Amino acid sequence: MKKLYIKTYGCQMNVYDSDRMQDLMENVGYETIESPEGADMVIINTCHIREKASEKLFSDLGRIRPHKNKKAEDGSQMIVAVAGCVAQAEGEEIFKRSNVVDIIVGPESYQTLPDLVGKMIREKKKQINLDFTPDNKFDALPESKSGVGASAFVTIQEGCDKFCTFCVVPYTRGAEYSRELSKIVDDAKRLVDQGVSEIYFLGQNVNAYHGLGEKGEPASLAKLVEEVAKIDAVKRIRYTTSHPRDMSDDLIAAHRDIQKLMPFLHLPIQSGANAVLKGMNRKHTRQDYFKIIEKLRAAKPDMGLSSDFIVGFPGETDKDFADTLDLIRQIKFTQCYSFKYSPRPGTPAADAKIQVEEKVKVERLAELQKLLTDQQIEFNQQSEGQTMPVLFERKAPGKAKTRAATQLWGKSPYLQSVIVDVANEEEAKKYFGKIADVKILKSRPSSLVGEIC
Ligand code: SF4
Repeated sequence: MKKLYIKTYGCQMNVYDSDRMQDLMENVGYETIESPEGADMVIINTCHIREKASEKLFSDLGRIRPHKNKKAEDGSQMIVAVAGCVAQAEGEEIFKRSNVVDIIVGPESYQTLPDLVGKMIREKKKQINLDFTPDNKFDALPESKSGVGASAFVTIQEGCDKFCTFCVVPYTRGAEYSRELSKIVDDAKRLVDQGVSEIYFLGQNVNAYHGLGEKGEPASLAKLVEEVAKIDAVKRIRYTTSHPRDMSDDLIAAHRDIQKLMPFLHLPIQSGANAVLKGMNRKHTRQDYFKIIEKLRAAKPDMGLSSDFIVGFPGETDKDFADTLDLIRQIKFTQCYSFKYSPRPGTPAADAKIQVEEKVKVERLAELQKLLTDQQIEFNQQSEGQTMPVLFERKAPGKAKTRAATQLWGKSPYLQSVIVDVANEEEAKKYFGKIADVKILKSRPSSLVGEIC
């Protein structure tokens, strides 16, 4: 077997893509290793959302160079491929800036990776493929083997038509594309045969899903959830990332009616101020967001909510920021992601004249994160004394209370990390992939500690 090392940056969609690239390369004789040392192939799967994403890529390539040189000295070859959104955005420029790179492949064309490797070896020429062919991509991908545990991600939708002014995704991932419903149901059936209990639908705009249904009609995400919930061995369904504009009434009703759909929603709003939302081209207002949350809580009162916030977006005033804090106080979130605005080259907001001072951004982020952390702690504290079903996925990294015991890690319905002690490793294995009732004894800021009932 040849050796493959993959370094992945960014979101769950990139993790999913890296797993699929691993599957593709395994089919042509590669096995994955944990470091670039001695690798026959290195893939860097990049993320353009990261600050200074391309500088970080070139630093990585600099670190790969000695390993590649060593391989050449030993009379063999290391193939270096750059994949993901930076590959899509920078294209041929990457070859110009680093002669370490042999292959550049975009997030919608990585299914061609084995062909590109073959061609590169045969023709002794660098290869590039940045086509947008999501149809071909999903049809050409092998069945997933990597990344399969108790919970498995299934991409159902890719791309974005929303064009938020701070985001590169519509340029690097292309227009919205949804996979056919029956193909996703087949994926779910295959995954539960491999021991998966939780299906996690992925998409850049996952709730904009509109894949072809069985009779050729467009099917919504709610319909897809309904169909996958019919599979007995599927115990839990989740989806991410949603956009408020696509939070349809049938999806809200699905949260009420389909018990397998978990009571947790990540619904990014980014800002609580209408002027900022307009500048971001979010196409929804603060009032729209409140209405959605009101409907959701009416349908499912125990719904856990998460969101994304960007502070210091160009033009954000003290009053705008205060509006964001006010929205957070009113809604109460269970866990969130928050960032300082930093310009992404090629996006409209990057050229805005009124950028917020760095010092102000730092202060606002600290204040916002303190509020979000307090809310997360409060939500976790409310879990103390409750008994909840937990899906156990693996051993926890920490130490058990006693030397003989082992710790298990699982997820609550609200996506909280739950840790329990079990007698030993043998006992732990019995719980992998299973759901068990756990009494929560103690809460921590970002996890719960309990005992199996
Ligand atoms: S909805 Fe906005 S933030 Fe989300 S992927 Fe599309 S452009 Fe980016």
